[in-house]
Amino acid sequence: IYKRSSQLFAEAEKVIPGGVNSPVRAFKAVGGTPIFVKSAKGAYLYDEDGNRLIDYINSWGPMILGHAYEPVVEAVIEKAKLGTSFGMPTELETQIAALAVSMVPNIDKIRFVNSGTEACMSAVRLARGFTKRDKIIKFAGCYHGHSDSFLIQAGSGAITFGSPNSPGVTEGTAKDTLLARYNDLENVRTLIEANTNEIAAIIVEPVAGNMGCIPPNKGFLEGLRQLCTENGILLIFDEVMTGFRLARGGVQELFNINADIVCFGKVIGGGLPVGAFAAREEIMNYLAPLGPVYQAGTLSGNPLAMAAGLAMLHALDKDRAIFQRLEEKTAYLAAGIDKVLKANNVVFTINRVGSMISVHFDANPVVDFQSAAKGDNESFKKFFHGLLEEGIYIAPSAYETWFITDALSYEDLDFTI
Ligand code: PLP
Repeated sequence: IYKRSSQLFAEAEKVIPGGVNSPVRAFKAVGGTPIFVKSAKGAYLYDEDGNRLIDYINSWGPMILGHAYEPVVEAVIEKAKLGTSFGMPTELETQIAALAVSMVPNIDKIRFVNSGTEACMSAVRLARGFTKRDKIIKFAGCYHGHSDSFLIQAGSGAITFGSPNSPGVTEGTAKDTLLARYNDLENVRTLIEANTNEIAAIIVEPVAGNMGCIPPNKGFLEGLRQLCTENGILLIFDEVMTGFRLARGGVQELFNINADIVCFGKVIGGGLPVGAFAAREEIMNYLAPLGPVYQAGTLSGNPLAMAAGLAMLHALDKDRAIFQRLEEKTAYLAAGIDKVLKANNVVFTINRVGSMISVHFDANPVVDFQSAAKGDNESFKKFFHGLLEEGIYIAPSAYETWFITDALSYEDLDFTI
């Protein structure tokens, strides 16, 4: 059933390293052919072989209102027809900025870039400039983009994208990053004490989506907030996965905790390449042209991307009950998964925060990257391929964990493996 995809994959391998974009690397873990998608609508993907699949990974997160969501499509077409310019202000950019600032707590100004990766890199640079310190604390297993190499040893799953030994990661960039354990406040406190007045920022996925879906322990984010405030350190929430998804105002709203800088990606672009970082005025004004930290990009604030993002945020802003509905659907999905896996004697744990779930194929939940129990790959593979045959596409993952970042449309829960 994947004949055409197999042919296309063979062609792709000749001209694209590995034949695929990076997330599909995980196909190696489960075996089989990466699926080539021809079109997508709502919750469904239609592949090149004519199969219809439910997109249970939500294309890694951006399509919270479904594929080919009409207001986004129309906004992009309209803007494309009008033509675009780069490096000049557009009203669209102001509109999306104003809307984002009105939806997210504790931010006055926002700057747009082209991806979540760029958002995190820019946030870290801004923090270093603002505090005039170099060191950064990040958490093992939290992923902040493919240029995480500037932060050392990032990674989602067992694959480390930017180990200190990777070519391109210099001593100069890696040595300033202190690696901490997620949910371990004492570990963070020790690092801060050992590096007094040297740490610029702590960057964290406030709900850790890239290790599966690990909620912060009670008091963890509050503790980070307090440690940052006491020590002149900026707290960066990487909300690339959680922003405009877990709540209208993201994790800051969900847990009522303020970060100093917030990073966005995925949903904010409505499916086009958009990232953003935001903070209160005194921090954001440290950016050029008002301040000394230079930050710019030819395609940043690209009018097509701004049009898509604006249409997406408008839709989320108008529908005040949407995050509640997403959560309800996801809870229903979690119950369905639980039932099916138990009926098939699979050993697993499910984590869920709002509309994010992970299913780990092991009795022990993933707690953090370093102590992650290796899951049961055979069960995971069986489950993955069983679902694929039923027309359900889930994220293949290197942790033997399936993580879902959205509940688009889960009407089809009657699956079996
Ligand atoms: N930060 C988090 C929490 C992410 O989940 C991701 C992507 O998955 C990124 C940053 C990087 O974003 P992008 O892939 O748009 O560069």
